[in-house]
Amino acid sequence: MSDHSNLRIASQVIHAGQHAEPVTGAVMPPIFTSTTYAQESPGVHKGFEYSRSHNPTRYALERMIACLEGSNISEDTDASCGGFAFASGLAAMATALELIDAGSHIISMDDIYGGSNRLLQKVRQRTQNLDIDFVDLTDESKLRSAMRPDTAMLWVETPTNPTLKIVDIARVAQIAHEVNPKCLVVVDNTFCSPVNQRPLEHGADIVMHSSTKYVNGHSDVVGGILVTGKPELAERIRFLQNAIGSVMGPFDSYLTLRGLKTLDVRIRRHNASALRIAKHLEASELVDRVVYPGLESHPQHSVYKKQMEATGGGGTGMITFFIKGGLEPAKAFLETVSIFTLAESLGGIESLIEHPAIMTHASVPPEQRAVLGIDDALIRLSVGIEDCDDLIADVDRALEAASAKMGAMAG
Ligand SMILES: *Cc1c(COP(=O)(O)O)cnc(C)c1O
Repeated sequence: MSDHSNLRIASQVIHAGQHAEPVTGAVMPPIFTSTTYAQESPGVHKGFEYSRSHNPTRYALERMIACLEGSNISEDTDASCGGFAFASGLAAMATALELIDAGSHIISMDDIYGGSNRLLQKVRQRTQNLDIDFVDLTDESKLRSAMRPDTAMLWVETPTNPTLKIVDIARVAQIAHEVNPKCLVVVDNTFCSPVNQRPLEHGADIVMHSSTKYVNGHSDVVGGILVTGKPELAERIRFLQNAIGSVMGPFDSYLTLRGLKTLDVRIRRHNASALRIAKHLEASELVDRVVYPGLESHPQHSVYKKQMEATGGGGTGMITFFIKGGLEPAKAFLETVSIFTLAESLGGIESLIEHPAIMTHASVPPEQRAVLGIDDALIRLSVGIEDCDDLIADVDRALEAASAKMGAMAG
């Protein structure tokens, strides 16, 4: 809602797109579970007919996330201001892909989330006959040679998972739009949340989220989001959201909106603790390399400074590091931590740890894992909002266990 767009983001997460419920004055939107709405006479209603198409609880969430991502579409132009909520991140992506015609050419970042890769290669290549090029978008020359006058979509994910490569959104959007002004530039903003990065402000046409991660942030709702700042695109996405029907339910919408209210305070703690832990790991002689946007050693640190917001730390709660000695010390580390839970997923209040080569990225063929730099020494942390001193003590215990394993291997 445009009347909140002048507020700072910590205020927006409380107020953006929200208004008291008209009948009772309730400050938080009730969970409207009704599937249908009474009409005064045929076709005369209050803007709500059927809950796949219109749901007040979902709208409240959609308007909020639209405003946070910097869409300026007013509620008069679009009932949810250009924000759309789906049953999962992949349902949001699948709906975005319906914006382009069968047989289209699409360019995707090379190391996108595994499920996004699967949707493109194992489903849409067959059912939509998509012609897909996977390109390392941190290298502009590679994008320039891959772009065609009819390239219909550029799929960006930044920072990437798990190697945290950072793509310069403004540059790639400019290059794509120069070659084809109609090319839709979509950015998966899951690793940042709108507190750390707002792709629409850098020239993207659409932002996508797995709201399962930071946006909801409490590891209790699977969901997805699309946001656009362009009214004509909003109209097309609204049509597709209703026509395909993979919408977010009212209870999940309520929980996600509740999660968003604390987004700014949560992200500040995630960022601050992650930066501290990243520096701590970088100083350890048991660690080969730490990849974290807020560290000066990050290969795209200058893009980070231009495009992302540090927000009390280093731009995200995600850290990737390579432990010395490979698989056995890595396993010892993963088995020793007790506050970090060994689990897939990320972006929740509790700290998680995982081993991509064995867990999240096991489906990526070993040769391709090697190209992407996902080796057996790589450990991924999703830093939660526990007391950071406790997290550091946990990391130190695990490093000791890894060190003992390295010693045993050497001896
Ligand atoms: C989890 C994730 C997805 C998929 O979202 P779901 O909610 O699991 O369907 C897409 N992109 C990224 C970067 C993710 O982390």
